[in-house]
Amino acid sequence: MAIKVPVLMYHKIGVRPDGAVIKGHYVSNDLFERQLAALKRFGYQGTTFQNLLQCGAQKGKAVLTFDDGYSNFALNAAPRLAELGWTGTVFVVTAYMGGENTWDTNWGEARESIMTWDQAKEWQTKGMEIGSHTVHHPKLAELSAEDSQQELDQSLADLRDHLDGKDFTFCYPFGSYLPATAVQVRDAGYLGATTVKKGCYLPGMDVFQVPRINIRSDTVPPVFAYKLFRALVLNR
Ligand SMILES: [Zn+2]
Repeated sequence: MAIKVPVLMYHKIGVRPDGAVIKGHYVSNDLFERQLAALKRFGYQGTTFQNLLQCGAQKGKAVLTFDDGYSNFALNAAPRLAELGWTGTVFVVTAYMGGENTWDTNWGEARESIMTWDQAKEWQTKGMEIGSHTVHHPKLAELSAEDSQQELDQSLADLRDHLDGKDFTFCYPFGSYLPATAVQVRDAGYLGATTVKKGCYLPGMDVFQVPRINIRSDTVPPVFAYKLFRALVLNR
């Protein structure tokens, strides 16, 4: 039977500030710890999206992804993964590195600081993967093909400028893309892309439309276990 690989989607790890609008995006350090312990108990070890794409589906591997590149990835998530000897992927919005989550504060979300390029480079050196989440975090499905192309090309160029290596993966902001966007991502030279569709990685699937398991502030261990089961066994 083909090996299925869970791909977990996180946003923010740490304390939720007053005024946060999407409260579910904050997973406390304590809950994160309990989720990692559960993964370990189920026989999993955390790895990067790039590792999955380059090595194929391996038993006991779970891909850990963190969207948006918040400073709390560098401060809370990455150090904990490193202690376990695990790795994961953080998808960054290249125009806002060292700044704030402007794409979210524009509509009223609480401010969060974004990792600097130095922090990203430091964690890349320690084995974490830094992937692209575009330049400005737009809804790609709503952009012209030309503007979408620009977001894909420029963010890849930014990653290649600031980090080691030429090969990078991608994540669609807001999970927004058209079938044509997935082709654009492939043609731009990315290795693969994650979506917000529910499910897990199945060998043979389109690697530019990989579904994930959404982990939230209320994903306590029993819910976490159920979400894994639902993705791995029920494929949704
Ligand atoms: Zn995002």
